[in-house]
Amino acid sequence: MLELIPLRAFSDNYIWLLVDQQSHRAAVVDPGDAKPVVTWLGRHPEFTLTHILITHHHPDHVGGLVTLKAATQCKVMGPAMEDIVGVDQKLGDGDRVKVLGHELDVLDVPGHTLGHIAFYCAADDPFLLCGDTLFAGGCGRLFEGTPAQMHDSLQRLAALPEKTRVFCAHEYTLANLRFALAVEPDNPDIQVRLQVVEEMRADGRITLPSSIGLEKQTNPFVRSNEPAVQRVASERNGEPVAAGAETLAVIRQWKDSF
Ligand code: ZN
Ligand code: FE
Repeated sequence: MLELIPLRAFSDNYIWLLVDQQSHRAAVVDPGDAKPVVTWLGRHPEFTLTHILITHHHPDHVGGLVTLKAATQCKVMGPAMEDIVGVDQKLGDGDRVKVLGHELDVLDVPGHTLGHIAFYCAADDPFLLCGDTLFAGGCGRLFEGTPAQMHDSLQRLAALPEKTRVFCAHEYTLANLRFALAVEPDNPDIQVRLQVVEEMRADGRITLPSSIGLEKQTNPFVRSNEPAVQRVASERNGEPVAAGAETLAVIRQWKDSF
């Protein structure tokens, strides 16, 4: 069994540390800063860092890569379609890699960036490492991709088993759910989740992991095919928009200035 430990970085990033207690090996996802990882390894000298996994090229996800690689001689895996210094193995859709004895499937999930990838482990207790594509209650900004690409990426992730645990790279859940409630004020699942998350954040607790099932109930971007979300997007737009990518485009733009 892998343990997933969040290491905080910057103001709201999570660097996910994958830990195998049996073999005393660890891997890390999107180390935007080397320090929190080096600190953890210093406190757990029996562990060896064997892999760094990268989802996309933004500095808050790759900033610690070179330092960590030099300090640990680990192997770095990242997106084939993005230019990232220090990546040893370039990955794209359909690739399968073995990390700490677990098979991870690579999915192309463009939208936030064009080459963004996600890692999915289809074990008994499936989990997803999705960087800045899917957030708890939201999705990444469209820096490089189109609404249609983000829509396809989110729907692909939404098709994974509902119990899949979702490990995102930022603590954005509270702001995302406040927006989600503005989109769907009558959605009881969002109301309940917002209340839970408000309490968690008041105590300074992490709101992750989420699950695919929860995102399907409460995430307006994942729900852009739902008539209720389409209706609000159409009102916002002033003229009707189609469900799906067009709806996502309108609510993404709305969220950018929310
Ligand atoms: Zn990013
Ligand atoms: Fe980020």
